[in-house]
Amino acid sequence: MNLARQIEQYLPRQLLGLVKDISGQAAKQGQRVYLVGGVVRDLLLGYPNFDLDLVVEGDAVKLAQQVAENSQAKLLAHHRFGTAKLRYDNFTLDLATARKETYDSPGALPTVTPGTLKDDLIRRDFSINAMAVSLASNDYGELVDPYQGKSDLEHHLIRILHPKSFSDDATRILRGVRYEQRFGFEFEAQTARLLKRDIPMLDTISGDRIRHELELIFKEKQPELAIKRLGELGVLPRISPFLKGDGWIAEKFDRARHLKKPVQLPSLYFCLLIYSFNERDIEQFLARLNISAKLSRAMRDTLRLKARLPLLDKPSLKPSEIYYLLREYEPLAIQVNAIASEPSMAHRYFELFLTKLRYVSTSLDGEELKKLGISAGPEMGQILQRLHKAKLNGEVRTGADERKLALSLSLKLKR
Ligand code: ATP
Ligand code: MG
Repeated sequence: MNLARQIEQYLPRQLLGLVKDISGQAAKQGQRVYLVGGVVRDLLLGYPNFDLDLVVEGDAVKLAQQVAENSQAKLLAHHRFGTAKLRYDNFTLDLATARKETYDSPGALPTVTPGTLKDDLIRRDFSINAMAVSLASNDYGELVDPYQGKSDLEHHLIRILHPKSFSDDATRILRGVRYEQRFGFEFEAQTARLLKRDIPMLDTISGDRIRHELELIFKEKQPELAIKRLGELGVLPRISPFLKGDGWIAEKFDRARHLKKPVQLPSLYFCLLIYSFNERDIEQFLARLNISAKLSRAMRDTLRLKARLPLLDKPSLKPSEIYYLLREYEPLAIQVNAIASEPSMAHRYFELFLTKLRYVSTSLDGEELKKLGISAGPEMGQILQRLHKAKLNGEVRTGADERKLALSLSLKLKR
């Protein structure tokens, strides 16, 4: 099957020009180059995807160097891995030397040697990701599909390429569910059986790799679909015994996505994922996934604040009281509690804190107070705090108000 016409229609003009240029350069160097992976799958599905991955039978770095010389691309080469990245203003291209991989033990990183396109395709996760399109001049546009990926696409099937696939690399379990839910496909019967059998192999995968796959899930349009499915399959409890993928999560994820304010969605999803944990259980999860210090803080704060919600469910707290109750928590943790907790007075306080109170500052600082004759020390600290409270509560508005209050406080403290 030849896809030359589809490629012409699919790729933006600039990218198409580049692909042709690469194809020409490869011919001059006597190398064969192919489009591979996600872009081929999405081209056949008709979904836009301009993250181009290219595989070179030969030497990808040498080809990338030549292409970079002829264009204004920035080149990032890894000689050791035989890979190169070309960075243009609007997109990047990844070139990799065709490789053969063998797994010495489950979950370990594979041993890599140079190989053919076919070697490079069989090391891949699923048949729908194991297709290539030739960019060589003699068969430009020809689909290379040794594992019936096109047929699986048409039958909406996710299929591994060999029975040891999930045990070699159990991150494929998470990847498979991501594609299944993204495209509304199903696991082919044998694949489904092996997936269930190999769930315990997730124990062989490092925290960084599992976290990375969760991050990829969190970049999906509706990550809750994959999370729910991972729950049903019994994958989540293998990652942490406290993880659930129930309807509650789905509703909160959806709500998080529809917030009007810009938020760091992946981090927010992580915090929602652990909302049902208690404060003791979280540590094991943070360690298992090697979560960064910053996100760990937000996740711990999420649970700490959850435990203190009753303190906030009081009518008529003063703005300064709200501020001092909430300032010790990461804003993200407050945001998460606003989404995840039952509606209560606390929700208004969260909103007020996040949109206004946390930005309030006095117009007078220490230097200004010195000019008023107040000397540095505990007294000044007290006065600054009182000014800040007064400003939060709307008792002072202008700089002049603050100056007046500062002087009267100073007099009082002296007495
Ligand atoms: P998308 O980015 O849309 O999720 P993609 O196919 O581009 O899809 P990437 O994660 O960018 O996915 O990976 C590129 C290609 O590398 C995949 O198409 C797949 O063939 C291969 N690949 C990635 N991870 C693995 C893995 N763990 N095992 C085997 N092959 C993999
Ligand atoms: Mg990709």
